[in-house]
Amino acid sequence: MVVPECTACGTCCFSTLPEYIRVFGCDHDRMDDRARELTHFVGNRCYMRIEGGRCAALTLDPERGRFLCSIYEVRPDCCRALERGSGGCLGELHEKRERPLIALDALRRRAGGDVGSGGDGGAGQGGGPA
Ligand code: SF4
Ligand code: SF4
Repeated sequence: MVVPECTACGTCCFSTLPEYIRVFGCDHDRMDDRARELTHFVGNRCYMRIEGGRCAALTLDPERGRFLCSIYEVRPDCCRALERGSGGCLGELHEKRERPLIALDALRRRAGGDVGSGGDGGAGQGGGPA
């Protein structure tokens, strides 16, 4: 399987599960002010908020076909742990590769026109959660 650049992929940031991305105390502290808007609690456990089938911190650029973590520098440890090209990454691609493509397509339709499907890939996202 050809592994795309993370910024042209975003697959591991997609989920519908509210408990998909665990946020531990150290992660929460690192996120500082962003934590309030981007995380939620289930019981006494904290997770990244899920919106529209993806992590609330993920930003999509439908014109360039890019996916960027808006909190890349302070993202949770589980996101840092998933390496591009690892078994976990390949599993994500196998299970969910179509989701970001569908999301991009929906945004393009909403924008009211064909804005192209190009994009230059760019630097990796550094690994999202498994
Ligand atoms: S680490 Fe995530 S964003 Fe990067 S290629 Fe693998 S599934 Fe895609
Ligand atoms: S890398 Fe982690 S925090 Fe950033 S958008 Fe993806 S799942 Fe969310």
